[in-house]
Amino acid sequence: MGLADIVPPGVVTGDNLRKLFDYAQEHNFAIPAVNCTSTSTINAVLEAARDVKAPIIIQFSNGGSAFFAGKGLPNKNQEASILGAIAGAKYIREVAPAYGIPVVIHSDHCAKKLLPWFDGMLEADEAYFKEHGEPLFSSHMLDLSEESKEENIEICTKYLKRMAPMKCLLEMEIGITGGEEDGVNNEDVESAALYTQPEDIWDIYKAFSQVTDLFTIAAAFGNVHGVYKPGNVKLHPELLGKHQAYVKEQLGSKAKNDKPVFFVFHGGSGSTEEEIKTAVSNGVVKMNVDTDTQWAYWQGIKDFYESKKAYLQSQVGNPEGEDKPNKKYYDPRVWIRAGEQSLIKRVQQACKDLGNVNTL
Ligand SMILES: [Zn+2]
Repeated sequence: MGLADIVPPGVVTGDNLRKLFDYAQEHNFAIPAVNCTSTSTINAVLEAARDVKAPIIIQFSNGGSAFFAGKGLPNKNQEASILGAIAGAKYIREVAPAYGIPVVIHSDHCAKKLLPWFDGMLEADEAYFKEHGEPLFSSHMLDLSEESKEENIEICTKYLKRMAPMKCLLEMEIGITGGEEDGVNNEDVESAALYTQPEDIWDIYKAFSQVTDLFTIAAAFGNVHGVYKPGNVKLHPELLGKHQAYVKEQLGSKAKNDKPVFFVFHGGSGSTEEEIKTAVSNGVVKMNVDTDTQWAYWQGIKDFYESKKAYLQSQVGNPEGEDKPNKKYYDPRVWIRAGEQSLIKRVQQACKDLGNVNTL
């Protein structure tokens, strides 16, 4: 049975999402989660996945959501971030079926101070659920890794109880991922804090599984957000295998298999193929990709500009003649498309790295 026999194309939620992650774990691959900020980037990511015949995850960060709605809108009370995430999710729901692949709509890191954003998205999920029997988003992420483990688990569990009736999945983060993202700076933390302990994973698993089986865990194993020289921080994806073994041992005969936990890989930019492989073989089902795809989009536009520079200096006049028009070079559909094509290649590379090619 292929994935296409198990999960229908279009937006995937609830039991189908769990089946998708189960299938990925069983077949030893993970799905890239690409941060999108516009319809252009969404289309490129969908096109990339369609052409390698694979499922894909599109996610919106808090800042990316606000950008989607428009930088001109006020966002003091998270209103633009709420609006943008909802608009992005609705856009994906409209176009995803045309691409014929399973698509997961997810919201990225939400720290404690951003909870009003989370609440706003959940309200939209509940409204959508009333009408369609499923949430608007497939899943959301709460990042309370800055808080104590107890508070982290407590707040996550509270939200899980609200999300469980509509079968919306929660991704949580435990331990500290180095680097900087969306204003949370962890560049100076001690390296011991960069590795989650197996007991922490079990505490989370135990609390959450009393509510639902729709949750994933982003554990810290020396990963770093963004691209920068991490100094003495070393990636140890084999630790995830130890976590799986520990949880399995605690579960005893109730363990469904050798990998009871769905892990998520954050801060993976610059990881080697070997490190990614090890992470996936230890039960990572989702890997965030943002920094490298941002660069790819820009690089496509940059290369286009450099190769057509003489045609991009004025509306009329280029090396072929003073009266020659340049519209076909400065039309946004041309240079934005160059960014999309470069992004498509990078997303397909991420799919290859994660074994997510021809997985339908
Ligand atoms: Zn993270």
